[in-house]
Amino acid sequence: MVSLSKTLCPYCGVGCGLEVLPPAQPGKPVARDSEGNPVWQARGDRDHPSSKGMVCVKGATIGESLSKSRLKHPMLRDSLDEPFRRVSWDEALDRVAERIQAAHSTFGPDAICMYGSGQLQTEDYYIAQKLLKGCLGTNNFDANSRLCMSSAVAGYIQSFGSDGPPCCYDDLERTDCAFLIGTNTAECHPIVFNRLRKHHKRTRKVKLIVVDPRRTPTAEAADLHLAIEPGTDIDLLNGIAHLLLRWGFIDPVFVDECTRGFEKFAEVISHYPPERVARTCGLRIDDVVQAARYWARAERVLSLWSMGMNQSSEGTAKVRTLINLHLMTGDIGKPGAGPFSLTGQPNAMGGREAGGLAHILPGYRLVKNPQHRAEVERGWGLPPGSISPIPGRPAWDMITGLETGEVQVFWVAATNPAVSMPDIERTKSALRRSPFTVYQDAYYPTETADYAHVLLPAAQWSEKTGAMTNSERVVTLCPTFRQPPGEARPDWEIMVEVGRRLGFTEQFDLANSAAVYAEFVALTRDRLCDCTGLSHARLAAEGPIQWPCPKGMTAAENQQSKRLYEDLRFKTGDGRAQFAAFHSRGLAEPTDSGYPLVLTTGRLYGHWHTQTRTGRIDKILKLHPEPELEIHPRDAADWGIEDKTWVEAQSRRGAARFRAKVTRAIAPGTVFVPMHWGALWAEQSEANALTHPESCPASLQPELKACAVCVVPA
Ligand code: SF4
Repeated sequence: MVSLSKTLCPYCGVGCGLEVLPPAQPGKPVARDSEGNPVWQARGDRDHPSSKGMVCVKGATIGESLSKSRLKHPMLRDSLDEPFRRVSWDEALDRVAERIQAAHSTFGPDAICMYGSGQLQTEDYYIAQKLLKGCLGTNNFDANSRLCMSSAVAGYIQSFGSDGPPCCYDDLERTDCAFLIGTNTAECHPIVFNRLRKHHKRTRKVKLIVVDPRRTPTAEAADLHLAIEPGTDIDLLNGIAHLLLRWGFIDPVFVDECTRGFEKFAEVISHYPPERVARTCGLRIDDVVQAARYWARAERVLSLWSMGMNQSSEGTAKVRTLINLHLMTGDIGKPGAGPFSLTGQPNAMGGREAGGLAHILPGYRLVKNPQHRAEVERGWGLPPGSISPIPGRPAWDMITGLETGEVQVFWVAATNPAVSMPDIERTKSALRRSPFTVYQDAYYPTETADYAHVLLPAAQWSEKTGAMTNSERVVTLCPTFRQPPGEARPDWEIMVEVGRRLGFTEQFDLANSAAVYAEFVALTRDRLCDCTGLSHARLAAEGPIQWPCPKGMTAAENQQSKRLYEDLRFKTGDGRAQFAAFHSRGLAEPTDSGYPLVLTTGRLYGHWHTQTRTGRIDKILKLHPEPELEIHPRDAADWGIEDKTWVEAQSRRGAARFRAKVTRAIAPGTVFVPMHWGALWAEQSEANALTHPESCPASLQPELKACAVCVVPA
């Protein structure tokens, strides 16, 4: 019998430690899933520094999802009209390599794209960058993180000179005031919220402000809930800044010595008196003033945000405007304070470290920076000029590249774009036109598999060994403790096999994932995310470790440097953080008489993304049996909608059906639907049938959080 394994929950970016036990335990019957597979048992790991033994329903039930509906063998077909046929790994990999070679010769390297995921481990991400950006000479690797937190990345880079969340989870218990904006933390990052909620309950003077058009479980716990009109975040943030400046609650020494751009910022916020802000945001003046008062009275303010800020056509501007508040008050680089982006996926952070977006390179380097390219080329043993200076296609541009024929090979790994992309009918139409789509995943069927020419079975978490980094920069080694089903192989190994077939034998002479990780950490030397002190062996021996962890750093030293920027020196040229000065442009698609409601989308407590795992877990299906559309009673009355009846939401792009939930938890003028249901799970209930792809010009993240709709009885 295999003994207990310590690992990391593979769902969200909170990154809780798990202990996993094999199905057969002395004196206990073996639990089985609905297909009869034995089920591994998971529970919280009390030794994990980020979660201290806590775990939510997703982590607790992960064992049920591991064996059902798995893709076990490589499959191939020449056209989407044909059925798949089972083939050998050699035949599948040869076909992939041939099609890449042909597209490269005929159309150039930029005709090849890979679309990955924050579910990949750091080793998978790293090998993908080396293959695409180094060997093939295209920066066309992007991940579903583009849909999730690329505005946070752009905001950090523009304000601080580097990506990287400055805070740590201990700050949840050290803050005087938590400012949560655009995040339903209680449902989407439950263990972060548990820690914050306990602190809030225990310490009366601690204030909790939640900004969200919905009265979510997060908002229920707040001292002050600001149900703003969607798209007015910048107005509210500028309004709080206006009052702090008017009252003199700024840190003049910090502003003077550690920042630049304050004067222009001060001029912009002078236009945001509370009367104007309250009118624009749909709030009471007293509530705007109270929010500013909480900021002013707190010694340490911690702000938390996620998709509600990031998934916006002005997402980067929102993030930077929030960071402004920390810069003017000096609330950064100290316990309990700072702007803290909560990442969606378990290893979106590791992906950023490994260069897993179309504009970045390993070690928080930038594609556009010639010195950064040269450093990576040297690390990869490639001639100068191998890496293109042009950023690759972001996620949505891969879809439009399929429409125009500029993308000839589309390789998708560990994600399900046929559900998660905006404007889903347009996305599906583009996928149907793809000359050659490779779909590398652990599960079958999925919605995206319908559009593939080749299916490559991937080993998933638990069946391969690799590192993952959570939102507070803690790296955990996730060991192999089960055998992959059938012929499934680790993602990095599949990419290495293709790289070798393309002639890059020296670059891909890597024996195992520990060797891949060692090569990756060497490229982080002297970078903000320095991981040169980490290795699989050390992580296995010592457990999770936070970066930065340069070579030679002891565990005790590592514990003493939990926050970035404690020295108040930033990664900009002159070491100063940069204020931003933005007025809001509002929503990309405002409401009008034909589409009078703002639709916002989001996640539910139990489900994960497109349900590839959670849709197969009975307990979670009982929690969330069907997709519901939340609508305010006033809007429901206007549109003749009754509670629990079926309604159709319509936008300029399409329509979707949901069960109506008439509730005062949603602000009038706004409706909410969950994003989890794809065509496989519910006919015509796809939230992204409604959404649009208009994106933030800086982060290129689509505005999945808001579009104009009308709602009618179905
Ligand atoms: Fe997993 Fe996130 Fe739940 Fe923690 S909070 S158990 S990481 S899904």
